[in-house]
Amino acid sequence: MGKKVFITGISGQDGSYMIDYLLEKEKDIQIFGGIRRLSVENHDNFAHVDDPRFQTVDFDLTDPYIIQKGIQEIQPDYFINFAASSFVGSSWDNPVLTMEVNTMGVLHILESLRKFSPKTRFYNAGSSEEWGNVVSVPQDENHPLRPRSPYGASKASARHLVKVYRESYGMYAIQGFLLNHESERRGSHFVTRKITKNVARISKAYGQAKPFESLKLGNVNSQRDWSHALDFVDGIWKMLNHNIPKEYVLSSNETHTIKEFVEKSFAVSKIEGRWKGWGLGEKYVEIHDGNVLVEIDPKFYRPAEVDLLLGDSTKAREELGWEPKVSFDELVKRMSIHDILNT
Ligand code: GDP
Repeated sequence: MGKKVFITGISGQDGSYMIDYLLEKEKDIQIFGGIRRLSVENHDNFAHVDDPRFQTVDFDLTDPYIIQKGIQEIQPDYFINFAASSFVGSSWDNPVLTMEVNTMGVLHILESLRKFSPKTRFYNAGSSEEWGNVVSVPQDENHPLRPRSPYGASKASARHLVKVYRESYGMYAIQGFLLNHESERRGSHFVTRKITKNVARISKAYGQAKPFESLKLGNVNSQRDWSHALDFVDGIWKMLNHNIPKEYVLSSNETHTIKEFVEKSFAVSKIEGRWKGWGLGEKYVEIHDGNVLVEIDPKFYRPAEVDLLLGDSTKAREELGWEPKVSFDELVKRMSIHDILNT
């Protein structure tokens, strides 16, 4: 048997793309996809995988016994943890669960690896949200951790633990700094997918000359560094197969406002709009008929915002030979077209 890879979070975009990527790239491989048996989660993202090299196994980040059992029995060459309570917005509503899953869950994995499979190469999903209230632009590997949400704090704590295990026990344990990455498989509560799904809905209404409800958003002025998730799974695999365990930033090195994403997504549907008003009264209206396409709803504002994220992935590009292939325009186009075709 070739390389054994344990991947968690396979119902999400990163886990499911990692399965596709590894099955395509590594011929001699066995993939164990950890899923919560009791979960009501949607398995659409990996339902297409029909390959004897892939199987699902029981896994739950809140259950140390299941984590230990999986690691002890499989003794994987690689353990890639994408499972997380991953939505920043809801982390204020579920701070304890967020820490249980994103921090304690990682500690359970590290302990089990240390005891039962210390040679396993471990990757934990890190986030630019750990930088939070940024003090320099762009952000590279040396930017301090200044999280602004329970989610950011949970990932920053996990990062410290990963480092402690790496340095204390010589384990190959790393946590990349990944800027926002999106795709046609992104959950619809993240702003990009929320936009493309709603643009598809509005575009359909236009096609049928029917009335429609506007898209409601929160802070449309924040800026994010967005890439396609497929490019990032390639970067993660490169990070895991480097000669030393080192943590890198993966990013497009460009930043765009939520407004720009809105404009470009509507443009894919040939709907042209313009921004009018300001603050809570700001709207995006269609230029010919004046229909309101987007409105601000304070419900989607966060108790604390990360205003600007812009990564500097120079080191990953130079040392891992990695670079993202999908541009911002292409990302918006792919996601928008996918949702138009499926609405
Ligand atoms: P994040 O960067 O991991 O928090 O990814 P999100 O896609 O959830 O949010 C990106 C940015 O979009 C944040 O600055 C949000 O405040 C902003 N935003 C504005 N309106 C919305 C909305 O309706 N939903 C979400 N999820 N984010 C929104």
